[in-house]
Amino acid sequence: MARTVQKQKPIRTCTKTYANYTSFKPYIREDFNKRCGYCDDLDIYHGGARGYQIDHFKPHSIARFTCLKEDYSNLVYSCPFCNRAKSNKWKDIDGFIDPCDGEYDHHLERDCKGKIFAKSIIGFYIFVNLNLFLKRHELLWMIEKLEEQSKEIDNYLGILGEGHELELKILREFRKIQTEIKKYTNLFYNEI
Ligand SMILES: [Zn+2]
Repeated sequence: MARTVQKQKPIRTCTKTYANYTSFKPYIREDFNKRCGYCDDLDIYHGGARGYQIDHFKPHSIARFTCLKEDYSNLVYSCPFCNRAKSNKWKDIDGFIDPCDGEYDHHLERDCKGKIFAKSIIGFYIFVNLNLFLKRHELLWMIEKLEEQSKEIDNYLGILGEGHELELKILREFRKIQTEIKKYTNLFYNEI
């Protein structure tokens, strides 16, 4: 079943003004739910806020957008992979779509294994220009899913009591497997 790339829609709520856009980082991080606006990867898998960057949706290197350099409405919390890929690329028609815009979801989707797909020509432009085909986006999505499942198992283990010995035994076995897998995914974080 296809789903939107973003688990939760980012919304820009910060009303402050700063002379330097980097001062917005703590606010934009929260507004973007600690995720890259484009690929939705969680920043905790890449050094948290320190490892993530602020992208200028309309590149300030283009003369007519220079005035937007410190404009919060033009900023996107971004992983270094998407930010680097996007760089100063811009296309006025059928180009990038602001990830805070609901329209973003009309052009890109994700399958049940976390792989990102383009749904339209515009989506394909974004997909190719942001390297959304990178395996890391798929892998990090799967790792996150695995961690959610681990938490679910913990919840059941906390709820089940006497009279459920078999269920408890099965869940404990699952837990062991999950812990083992997690060891490897932790090793993997810095490699992808
Ligand atoms: Zn990204």
